[in-house]
Amino acid sequence: MAQRELSICVFCGARNGNDPFWAELASAFGARIASRGVRLVYGGGKVGLMGALASGALAAGGNVLGVIPRSLMTRELAHTGLTALEVVDDMATRKTRMIEQADAFVALPGGLGTLDELFEVLTLRQIGEHRKPSALLDARGYWQPLLRTCQGMVDAGFVRPDDIGQLLVDADADALIDSLLARVAAGA
Ligand code: AMP
Repeated sequence: MAQRELSICVFCGARNGNDPFWAELASAFGARIASRGVRLVYGGGKVGLMGALASGALAAGGNVLGVIPRSLMTRELAHTGLTALEVVDDMATRKTRMIEQADAFVALPGGLGTLDELFEVLTLRQIGEHRKPSALLDARGYWQPLLRTCQGMVDAGFVRPDDIGQLLVDADADALIDSLLARVAAGA
């Protein structure tokens, strides 16, 4: 029987940040996903790290699904070269569709929207809605302040250790993808 194609959903900034390093990181991460024969699911935009990520995956011959709300088609400029683009009614449906369509999740550097998407996945897992693994690409230690905040919440007894402890953290793209795929194979 043919093996089902795995999908990784990536959340990342709709901006480029202050250093070209971040867009290069996103583009290279897209290419690494494509080179593993894994489908990329993301927010469908052409701007910022999101655009760099998708273009990197496509240039490496990858399969890319974008999910974008109608209202953001202009602001985030829907990427026109994707393998598939789903246009949905609102932001909530976008998150639901991205979560349904993916086997695992990665957050690259980004802002408030990236945090919203990451915490949607983590909180749905926390209440048992899914068992899919998540990871942070921690280039230049971008996620360390957030991880410290989360550890503080664990120490104060508001977050169960495993609800944050299951989050994979690595600065190396290939190592991160390896760990995520191993979790998916093990049923997370
Ligand atoms: P940002 O990290 O703020 O640059 O945003 C990254 C992505 O998150 C963009 O595609 C935004 O459209 C999306 N986003 C922003 N706000 C929200 C929200 N409230 N719910 C879901 N996605 C959002």
